[in-house]
Amino acid sequence: KITLFWFRRDLRLDDNTGLYYALSQEENVLPLFIFDQNILEKLEDKDDARVGFIHDQITDLKSQFEEKDSSLLVKIGRPVEVFKSLLEDYDVQAVYTNRDYEPYAKERDKEVAKLLKEKDIELFTFKDQMIFEPGEVLNGSGEFYKVFTPYSRVWLEEFKKQTIEPLNYFHWKNLLECKAFDLPSLKEVGFEKSSIEIPPKMTDEDIIRHYDKNRNFPAKEGTSRLGIHLRFGTISIRKLALTASKLNDTYLNELIWREFYMTILAYNPQVVDKAFKPAYDQIPWRNNEEEFKAWCEGKTGYPIVDAGMRELNTTGYMHNRVRMIVASFLTKHLLIDWRWGEAYFARKLLDFELASNNGGWQWAAGTGTDAQPYFRVFNPESQTDKFDKDLRYIKKWIPELDSNDYPKPIVDHKFARQRAIDTYKEALNS
Ligand code: FAD
Repeated sequence: KITLFWFRRDLRLDDNTGLYYALSQEENVLPLFIFDQNILEKLEDKDDARVGFIHDQITDLKSQFEEKDSSLLVKIGRPVEVFKSLLEDYDVQAVYTNRDYEPYAKERDKEVAKLLKEKDIELFTFKDQMIFEPGEVLNGSGEFYKVFTPYSRVWLEEFKKQTIEPLNYFHWKNLLECKAFDLPSLKEVGFEKSSIEIPPKMTDEDIIRHYDKNRNFPAKEGTSRLGIHLRFGTISIRKLALTASKLNDTYLNELIWREFYMTILAYNPQVVDKAFKPAYDQIPWRNNEEEFKAWCEGKTGYPIVDAGMRELNTTGYMHNRVRMIVASFLTKHLLIDWRWGEAYFARKLLDFELASNNGGWQWAAGTGTDAQPYFRVFNPESQTDKFDKDLRYIKKWIPELDSNDYPKPIVDHKFARQRAIDTYKEALNS
């Protein structure tokens, strides 16, 4: 009899909650990873850097298990189908895994749970990707918080009451002893290597220490770039939150935003394609395709917007300050549906996280929780004066800035600002 430990967005051995408990409570634990075709077939780019990243992590995990005389079983397919065939090949008595809160993940896990139940196989799930999962930070009436500030206050109070002790001393002897399995190549998964570089999973502690002073300036190395590692669990949120709580409150606050948006999504799965505030679904977006293309390509003639989009297209990353500016520009200056921008980010961002991306877009469009009021329209020029005064960031991404090759502004700022305010006002009053 064996027990499966199913890796999903927790691609690490250290401080992995579900893996720890599988090894403490069971014997003959066989680790499993599934390249999920339901997810992969939706990806548009065959050289999607995130798939290459996952493949590298899986390769690494597999060799770590092989050093311990076990291995990692890697399958390609739809999870329920994969489980059906695994249950024929192995005498499985239990499955351990870490919980995942996105709408698709919950649906997937429900189906797998149903299948296991039919076969009398126990399923054990654990909290791992969050400090407080949806339902753990609630207001006095037992409801989820719709605004960030009170949520973060309670989150912090609870956090301070806890002693976080990362899990050590894994019972590796309880891994199933087996020969190394074959690992499907990236090509067999249906993808190619990307030339985009992945930021390292260790950040300089000084970045976190001085985060509050530097984080708003895109030309500085002022943020940790750990997004992709939090997304795929190659680092432990508990360890990071512990470090943050010692070094910088502002940084810890950003980790709270991450959990806030995850909670909002878990309680409001409709936000995936609807405004959090329903009235905002009345806005008559202009949705001009040529303007959208210019925005995507970084050719709007607004240097800070174009620099951001070019950074995104080239590196799979965009600085948070600039994410806010380009999102505001798309939704307000161009009156293009936030869902278009959200989808473009989802395709390009290495650190794409459904909850934070949706939250960030709805914030910028004014449709979400805590959102920018609709009459606040970022002025790209004054944002540049504040956050990239010497144009260091802009010039890095737009070398032709001062030449005739650089496009004229796609729309006049004053005109666009007024048009946005009028359009929003009318839609909200109707
Ligand atoms: P740091 O500034 O070093 O912060 C550390 C970590 O805290 C981040 O990696 C992230 O996990 C979390 N974090 C920081 N800011 C936020 C925030 N505002 N909301 C939620 N979590 C936060 N973040 C994503 O992780 N994935 C996304 O797809 C995403 N899309 C966004 C879209 C828009 C329009 C906006 C305005 C913001 C978006 N963010 C997203 C939030 C934020 O911009 C990124 O988390 C951050 O820029 C990632 O860089 P970093 O790892 O250097 O973050």
